[in-house]
Amino acid sequence: MYLKSIEVQGFKSFANKIVFDFHNGITGIVGPNGSGKSNVADAVRWVLGEQRAKQLRGASMQDVIFSGTENRKAQGFASVAITLDNSDHQLPIEFEEVTVARRVFRSGESEYLINGSACRLKDVNELFYDTGIGKEGYSIIGQGQIDKILSGRPEERRELFDEAVGIVKFKRRKATAQKKLEDEKANLVRVNDILSEIE
Ligand code: ATP
Repeated sequence: MYLKSIEVQGFKSFANKIVFDFHNGITGIVGPNGSGKSNVADAVRWVLGEQRAKQLRGASMQDVIFSGTENRKAQGFASVAITLDNSDHQLPIEFEEVTVARRVFRSGESEYLINGSACRLKDVNELFYDTGIGKEGYSIIGQGQIDKILSGRPEERRELFDEAVGIVKFKRRKATAQKKLEDEKANLVRVNDILSEIE
């Protein structure tokens, strides 16, 4: 699996539609300060479901929408799509190529799409569990993140290893099952209360 392209439109400094194509090997993005290099990494984080404006270096989630310049009016929406080569089927989906897209409008409406079909954020998260990709994945190492890992709490470092060895999805499923079990236990108590009232 590898990243084939990123398409951005109306996202941060990218008012027009721009497609970044990546090929085999290493790709460097170079440019003067403030030209938008970090915005490319922000676009990847955002399309993978980042919900925290601070992680995207903004004050609110609307800040990802191109806010206009002296010569150009603001955009009404931001859109990012990343396309991954999935010929090795590392992503649990039958397609050889997977495009994940996210759009948000100034009105607040937003949507996620996987290969053109609308989906939930949960579906995007599940698609990338244990691949190292994802908003919490280690495939994007942001400025200051190395320090954070080294000085982080042991539990936080553990989460990184869990993701790398591929057990996150099982932990999430276990947590969901435990929550259901707790809910059922509470229901049972309630049923017993009702039964004792009837008796
Ligand atoms: P450096 O080399 O200094 O780290 P960089 O190339 O990584 O810089 P970025 O931080 O990616 O640059 O981009 C910053 C630019 O993006 C700023 O000029 C800022 O005005 C612009 N920008 C950020 N959000 C928006 C937005 N919503 N609308 C328009 N421009 C934006």
